[in-house]
Amino acid sequence: MKRIYMDHGATTKPDPEVVNAMLPYYNEFFGNASSLHSTGQDAAKVLNRSREFVADFIGARSDEIIFTSGGTESDNLALKGIAYHKKNAGKHIITSIIEHPAILNTCKYLGETGFNITYVPVDDQGVVNPEDVAAAITDDTILISIMHANNEIGTIQPIKEISKIAHEHDILMHTDAVQSVGKIPVNVDDLGVDMLSISGHKIYGPKGVGALYVRKGTRLQSLVQGGAHEFGKRAGTENIPGIVGFAKAIELADQRLSEDEKHLINLRDTMIKKLLDSIPYSYLNGHPTQRLPNNVHIRFNFVEGESLLMMLNIKGVDVSTGSACSSKSLEPSHVLMALGISPEEIHGSLRITMGRENTMDEVDYVVENLIEILKKLRAMSPITPKD
Ligand code: PLP
Repeated sequence: MKRIYMDHGATTKPDPEVVNAMLPYYNEFFGNASSLHSTGQDAAKVLNRSREFVADFIGARSDEIIFTSGGTESDNLALKGIAYHKKNAGKHIITSIIEHPAILNTCKYLGETGFNITYVPVDDQGVVNPEDVAAAITDDTILISIMHANNEIGTIQPIKEISKIAHEHDILMHTDAVQSVGKIPVNVDDLGVDMLSISGHKIYGPKGVGALYVRKGTRLQSLVQGGAHEFGKRAGTENIPGIVGFAKAIELADQRLSEDEKHLINLRDTMIKKLLDSIPYSYLNGHPTQRLPNNVHIRFNFVEGESLLMMLNIKGVDVSTGSACSSKSLEPSHVLMALGISPEEIHGSLRITMGRENTMDEVDYVVENLIEILKKLRAMSPITPKD
């Protein structure tokens, strides 16, 4: 059976061009970018070129890009790097209640080791109110970190407004843009951020590689001590094949962004309309328009998301319940809880995240199967209203 992959929020299949771009850097050009001989300098050249690709794509300078092992490390470096560097200036950090665990658990750790964290709420569509951020600022605030787009419900946050507030108070602004980069235009100057996290495997690149944009002049403490790699901000011999693949993925995203965005919005809106129109007691989670082009997140009353996922899996369709990062946990999603949805309704939620290779025929196949599956499951459920 041909599988239909619709879990691009969890990860994406590396583009064949990405894999092809990487192979020579395993087979032939294996040098260490710090070596002075020609083999090393070949690696240094491609490292610089890759840095330029990544920087250009987000409107940054190449010396503002720190390569990391992915989104989680970028988030850790941004938060801990600033917290440790500025600990004498202040110990208060503001974030949102719906961040990815890479931010939430880093904040939790910082909270346990002497920092104070404020978690601002969101409205019932998952949007942070910039006024709540402004109200949380104290003389002790050193950093604000609000995600650009949420990994579960796809809601896009008003980062530009929040950055403006941060800078009016001389506070640094970070955004986790792991889910938005490559899907919607992202420019560090438009957003006004001082730091921004990216991950390779969400944009048809390899796993285990990402970047942190750090605006020129922003000082942070390195979390890994060692050599002088990555401008002294992240020691360790660079993962050249991974970085080459990451840069190739960025190059492809750059070429295809508007085409992909149009295609995905068409698939997303068609799927949402068909599901909501044909399945009673179904509701969209998150914002209707201020959301990622590829994100469909719907809750179906009187069923379990896990059952929907398993039955779709049998039909050859890969989707996710709640967040992939916490799908092994029985705890209701912290994001859906923050929207004020009850735990029972949360459990009937499904996240479908499409990618550039998905088609309208696949959308129709998933919708038809979901309609059938819901009929079957609800017929078996004693709590389904008999109307
Ligand atoms: N931030 C967000 C919003 C994410 O969705 C993810 C991964 O799902 C991460 C951070 C972690 O990125 P990585 O898997 O590259 O560590």
